[in-house]
Amino acid sequence: MRTQVAIIGAGPAGLLLGQLLSRAGIDNIILERSSADHVLSRVRAGVLEGGTVALLDEAGCADRLHAEGLVHNGIEIAFSGECHRIDLKRHSGRSVTVYGQTEVTRDLMEARAALGRPTIYEAANVELHEFDTAAPYVTFTREDITERIDADFIAGCDGFHGISRRSVPTAAFSVFERVYPFGWLGVLADVPPAADELIYARHARGFALCSMRSPTRSRYYIQTDAADKVEMWTDDAFWDELRRRVPADAADRVVTGPSLEKSMAQLRSFVAEPMRFGRLFLCGDAAHIVPPTGAKGLNLAASDVHYLFGAIRDYFDSRSEAALDTYSARALARVWKAERFSWWMTAALHNLPEQGAFGERLQIAELDYLTHSDAAASVLAENYVGLPY
Ligand SMILES: Cc1cc2nc3c(=O)[nH]c(=O)nc-3n(C[C@H](O)[C@H](O)[C@H](O)COP(=O)(O)OP(=O)(O)OC[C@H]3O[C@@H](n4cnc5c(N)ncnc54)[C@H](O)[C@@H]3O)c2cc1C
Repeated sequence: MRTQVAIIGAGPAGLLLGQLLSRAGIDNIILERSSADHVLSRVRAGVLEGGTVALLDEAGCADRLHAEGLVHNGIEIAFSGECHRIDLKRHSGRSVTVYGQTEVTRDLMEARAALGRPTIYEAANVELHEFDTAAPYVTFTREDITERIDADFIAGCDGFHGISRRSVPTAAFSVFERVYPFGWLGVLADVPPAADELIYARHARGFALCSMRSPTRSRYYIQTDAADKVEMWTDDAFWDELRRRVPADAADRVVTGPSLEKSMAQLRSFVAEPMRFGRLFLCGDAAHIVPPTGAKGLNLAASDVHYLFGAIRDYFDSRSEAALDTYSARALARVWKAERFSWWMTAALHNLPEQGAFGERLQIAELDYLTHSDAAASVLAENYVGLPY
C-alpha cells in the first residue's frame, strides 16, 4: 500500500489527525493494534478545553458534542470540610466542556467511516522502518500475512506503550519523568452527579474527584496506594471512602450504585524530547504523559495534532518544511506548561506522606490562597481552560 501519512494508533490523537488530514484531501491510513470495540471501551478523559472543541468542529465531528456535552463555567476546590468555587468563566473568559473520551472516539470513528477512509484494526507486529530517510514505511501482520505501507510521513499516535517511540534509538531522545507514589481508582456509575460542576477534594486520607459524563452518569476517583489492585476495592468500600473525603454536604449528595467500570491508573509525568525524528512525528501520549489531575492528557494530544496537521498540510500545499521543522519545539513549549500545571495541581491536592506535617500546612495555605485571591484563581482558570495554541 501507499499513502501520504501512515498513522499508528486509533486513539483520539490518531483519529483526529486522520480526520483533519482527510478533510484537507491528504491521504492517510490508520493502523491500530486493538479492535474498535476495545478502543471504545477504555473509559478515560472527560474534560475538553475550548481549543479541543474547536479542533473537533474543524474536523466536522462536534455535532453530538454540542448537543450532549455539558458546558462548565467553574470547578469546586474542597478542603478543610468546605467547597470553594473557582469561576473559570469570570477569571479566564472561557469554559470547558464535559464530554467523555469514549464519545469523542466514537464520533471520530463514525466520521472516518462516513468518509470511507481506512483504519486497519487488530494490526499485529507493527514496525516502523527507514524514517530517517525520505522513504519511510511501516510493516504489520494481518491474518498471518505481513503487509507494507509506504508513506511520506509516519505519525506515531500510539500512546505511552506504543511502538513508535520505542522504534527510535534511545540515544536520539531525552526522557524526563516523575512517577508518583500513588494511583487513582476510578468508578463509572449510572447515578446522577453529586454536583453540577467537578469537585476536586483535598483530604488528609487522600484526594477525591467528583466528576461526571452526563446528568445521569457519574465518574468518581479516589487516591489510593500505588500498589493497590482494583480487586481490593468493593463498590461499597469505594463509596464509603469517597464520602469520607468530600465535605459533608457533597457527601450527602453522592448517589451510589453498581459500578459500570472500575479501574486503577498509575500517576506519572513524562516527556520525551524531541517529538520529531526525520519523517516520524510523535503525537499525544506517545511523547508525553501527565497525571490526570489537571485534565490535560487528551487536550495535549489535540494540541499536538493541531501543530502537526498544520505542518503536514503546509508541506503538501507548498512543499515548505518550515512548520515541520518547528513542530517539536512548538508542541513541547505547550506540553511543558501543561506538565507544570498538572504537576502543581497534583501536588496541591494529593496526600503526599513524604512531605510531613510542614508540607500539609503549606498545602492548606496554598489552597486557602488559591480560593481567596483573584490573582491565584486566575492562574488556575487560565491553565484549566487551556493555554492558547
Ligand atoms: C484514568 C484516566 C483519566 C484521564 N482523564 C483525563 C482527563 O480528564 N482529561 C484529559 O485531557 N486526559 C485525561 N486522561 C488522559 C487521556 O486519556 C490520554 O491523554 C489520551 O487517551 C491520549 O490520547 P492518544 O491518542 O495520544 O493515546 P491513546 O488514547 O493511548 O491511544 C493510542 C492508541 O494506539 C494504539 N497502539 C498502541 N500500541 C500500538 C501499536 N504497537 N500498533 C498499533 N497501535 C497501537 C492503542 O491501542 C491506542 O488505541 C486520562 C487518562 C486516564 C488513564
